Amino acid sequence: MANMVQTVTGPIPVSALGRTLMHEHLFIAFGGAEFDPTAIFNRPAFIAEAVKRLRELREIHGVRSFVDPCPIELGRDAAMMKEISEKSEMHIICTTGFYFEDMGLPPYWRARTTEEIAELYIREITHGIGTTGIRAGAIKVATGAPVITALEKKFLAAACLAQRATGVPIITHTQDGVGAPEQQRLFADGGVEARNCLIGHCCGNADPVYHRSVVDGGSYIGFDRIGIPRLQPDEVRADNLAKLVKDGFAGHIMMSQDRHCGWLGKMQRQLSPEEQARIGMLKSEGKWPPPYSYMFTDFLPMLHARGVNQAEIASMLDDNPRRFFAGEPIPGA
Ligand SMILES: [Zn+2]
Repeated sequence: MANMVQTVTGPIPVSALGRTLMHEHLFIAFGGAEFDPTAIFNRPAFIAEAVKRLRELREIHGVRSFVDPCPIELGRDAAMMKEISEKSEMHIICTTGFYFEDMGLPPYWRARTTEEIAELYIREITHGIGTTGIRAGAIKVATGAPVITALEKKFLAAACLAQRATGVPIITHTQDGVGAPEQQRLFADGGVEARNCLIGHCCGNADPVYHRSVVDGGSYIGFDRIGIPRLQPDEVRADNLAKLVKDGFAGHIMMSQDRHCGWLGKMQRQLSPEEQARIGMLKSEGKWPPPYSYMFTDFLPMLHARGVNQAEIASMLDDNPRRFFAGEPIPGA
């Protein structure tokens, strides 16, 4: 078990994490955006905006720690995270690890062995990212849909080696609400304890049987795309989350929003004219990109309305992340 967690400004005791959002982003750049001449990124302006948003999270909503599991090849910028952390007084934890095959996995790393990939991950955890001296505090694993590919399995196996060598936990991306049970099996095959894994984006699946299988498997479960109606209405998320709490699994649940406040160039996917119009409207109202505070202002009241009490919410936001980074057993359901 670990007493300390690595943030982008250095190690802190796990007890200092406090209220933590386990899966948010600051900045994203999909591979190739750097070649788009229309992609203009004003770094100082972005940093100022991110600092403002994190200060609001800290001062109004009591959030003390912010985990940004940006994959290496999606514009991860540890030095920028460090500057934002220092200016906002928010603990920020970054990760090592790549994205999934459809949208990531640089050719150079596809050609590497499991051991070579693990070596990179271990170095970023124990020494630092590049020459920054900034160490990753967790490992990112991502798999696609409808099946996990052979390449993705190699990167997942490398993450298992790095987890066992360093003890830091794993945070995952699943796609289209599938793949969580298979990820769990692959982690078990790789010798990683279920409690060291946060299986992400499970709220993308509407079926409570799916969620139950994840918590029965002993992992943490990510309801970490709160406020993304395109992927799942929040009513469904709230119903399913409240059911897990009622069934005694609050100790497994990580709530977050997978939001970001800046990106390079255009959106990753082509937007419909309706979406473009809606975004234009939100921009004009100063509500774009959508704020990190949404969970507190809009989603938690939906949980209250479904019988989840304040103590249960506080425990999910404060205790679960600390226990996850400490590697402690999850209290029995
Ligand atoms: Zn994410």
